[in-house]
Amino acid sequence: MNFPELQGNEQLKKSLSELERGGRMPHAVIISSGNAEGRRILTKRLSMWAVCSKDNPPCGKCKDCQNVQSDVHCDVYFAKGSGKTDIYKKEEIAAIIRDSYVKPNQALRKVYVFEDCDRKLPVISQNAFLKTLEEPPQDTLFILTCESSRSLLDTIRSRAVEFSLENTEQINEEAYSLAKEIARGIVSPGEINLLRSTYKMNDRALALDTLDSIAALLRDGLAVYIGSTAEIDSDTADLLCRKLTKSRFLKLIELTQDAKSKIYANVSLKLISLWLCAEYRRNVWQK
Ligand SMILES: [Zn+2]
Repeated sequence: MNFPELQGNEQLKKSLSELERGGRMPHAVIISSGNAEGRRILTKRLSMWAVCSKDNPPCGKCKDCQNVQSDVHCDVYFAKGSGKTDIYKKEEIAAIIRDSYVKPNQALRKVYVFEDCDRKLPVISQNAFLKTLEEPPQDTLFILTCESSRSLLDTIRSRAVEFSLENTEQINEEAYSLAKEIARGIVSPGEINLLRSTYKMNDRALALDTLDSIAALLRDGLAVYIGSTAEIDSDTADLLCRKLTKSRFLKLIELTQDAKSKIYANVSLKLISLWLCAEYRRNVWQK
């Protein structure tokens, strides 16, 4: 079935058709990156594949496929979330897991969709899910969508097939240059430059990419510190080495990871910037 909406994403189309040709539907799929619309389109496509009973599914024309298109298929269930922030609580996960062992109503399979998992699927709920992904019920497809699969536990990621709507190898230039600014700010004597730079992480996606780049620059610096060579930027690595020790490098990398966790826990970016700036300074400049 041709899917013009996925045009331009050739790599993804290739892996999707390889998977479909193989005829083996995975039990769990993670759809990451891109925008919400793109993730929805791919969710529908996979749901159609799961419920379509024609040869070479998804046909796109049968009743099952059409019902998925119009969001009314009785075997495709979107988790609802609860509370002010629409979190998927562990009680909802437990109910879905119980339901997933009941046969589908009319289609070949049941599909359960969890959208915006970075924001809505906390670690406690991910843990509630784990056992089911280890021994999944038959005829079930779980679809988890997220901006970045880094928000999901490794143990979840390793049990799912991931489709990324963007070429993740692509370096985000804006994030990289901001990361460089921050890394250099960490070891410069005045606090103000560092604070200004961390405040520029004013957008969630930018902040996550920047933090990844900071961690990479710190690892690069650590490599130089222990006598290896820099792979990303030798100037920044040399600069960091003049001020940092091995244990400080490691501590800074840890802090950078913690900042990412705070983003996933929905702490405000301003607070995270302030916190990170203060912690970086405290660890580098304390006697
Ligand atoms: Zn069909």
